[in-house]
Amino acid sequence: SERTFIAVKPDGVQRGLVAKVIARFEERGYKLVGLKAIVPSKELAEEHYGDLKSKPFFGGLVDYMTNGKAPVVAMVWEGKDVIRQGRVMIGATNPLDAAPGTIRNSYCQVIGRNIVHGSDSFESAEKEISLWFGKAGEL
Ligand code: ATP
Repeated sequence: SERTFIAVKPDGVQRGLVAKVIARFEERGYKLVGLKAIVPSKELAEEHYGDLKSKPFFGGLVDYMTNGKAPVVAMVWEGKDVIRQGRVMIGATNPLDAAPGTIRNSYCQVIGRNIVHGSDSFESAEKEISLWFGKAGEL
């Protein structure tokens, strides 16, 4: 069993999709071990998306996460292979490429508003859980 960081991003919160995202993970049998609504600081968002610093959309991405029009709903989910399976359930980064039945295929249309985030590896899960929730052991 392992833990992953899943977040409903501000567009998903604003559109009322939090319960649907939670239901997908619950129905799959995963266990919710942490949840909070938070408007992240610019520092937190920049650290979270640190790998994308050189991308042309980085500034817009950080602004969209932090502008406070809606919070991020940050979650930690636990279960067998939940890191990889969470990514499968979320679907491709670009909703146009996301397979039918995935969260992004079901609920969104464009890459810049793809409603949800999920850790892409054990290392990023560890990093993101402590970034958003404090040291992993505290949960
Ligand atoms: P996430 O980390 O949010 O789960 P991902 O790992 O599937 O997404 P990344 O390539 O890490 O994809 O991109 C992170 C986020 O940056 C995307 O989810 C999306 O919100 C945004 N993003 C990526 N590419 C673009 C783009 N070309 N234009 C606008 N936003 C983008």
